[in-house]
Amino acid sequence: MSGAYKQLNLTQLEMVLPKLLEQARREQWTYETLLERALTAELDGRERKAMARRLKAARIPGKKTIDGFDFSFQPTLSERHLRELADLSFVRTGTNVIFLGPPGTGKTHLSLALANQALAQGHSVLFTTLAELAQALESASHPGLMRQRVRRYIAPSLLVIDEVGYTTLSQEQAHYFFELVTARYEHGSIILTSNTSFAQWGNLLGDEVLATALLDRLLHHAEVIAINGRSYRMKDRQGDRGDLSTQPARTPIGAPSTGVR
Ligand code: ADP
Ligand code: MG
Repeated sequence: MSGAYKQLNLTQLEMVLPKLLEQARREQWTYETLLERALTAELDGRERKAMARRLKAARIPGKKTIDGFDFSFQPTLSERHLRELADLSFVRTGTNVIFLGPPGTGKTHLSLALANQALAQGHSVLFTTLAELAQALESASHPGLMRQRVRRYIAPSLLVIDEVGYTTLSQEQAHYFFELVTARYEHGSIILTSNTSFAQWGNLLGDEVLATALLDRLLHHAEVIAINGRSYRMKDRQGDRGDLSTQPARTPIGAPSTGVR
């Protein structure tokens, strides 16, 4: 009998069956109930395994959730909007989500939360930073290998590109980055985070024309979420509201520094 489980690839069922049978006898299940529970156990097991595989492939650097995000700390951000995004219709429609804001405002946190949600719903996800992506798009010895690498970033339903703005790209990297965005255009979603305004993207890519064309595709179907707030990393610093750039300084210019920075 055990050979049949293997042949039919019912590994989960084989594992839980003794317990299931015991419970069935104890609770006097009907045949229908037993069969249904047995099949459900197999399906649940498969889904768990698939989820573990998706999670591994996604290369997500940490688990964050929408529930774990303190919206009261970031009042320019609409909780309702984020919760709407978490229903993932943006992934189904190939819409991009762009988080813009200074460091520490939760861009990576929210990206991870949405990525996590997408994984749980069965979507394939890949997380990367622009620096990592740039490296992958640079060091291939021939174009065929490069195309194969680019495909890796095209395949998932959701691609997260974190930390756009810290890395400037070479001409070749910019070209492949453009190809990647073009290939995903209207076909797969990108979540992108940046501390840099779109006006700076010409510098980032070393090419104004390319930047304009890339932004045109990226933003055509996109939700741009600007977070104009203070850094959560700084929130516990005494006497400092954690803000580095977007609100007027509390200390008048020329006044002695409080030394908290
Ligand atoms: P960014 O990517 O914008 O630089 P992060 O998302 O990395 O910022 O946030 C920095 C740290 O602060 C992370 O550990 C993140 O989980 C946490 N964090 C940021 N904003 C919030 C918030 N509003 N509520 C809870 N945690 C937050
Ligand atoms: Mg970040």
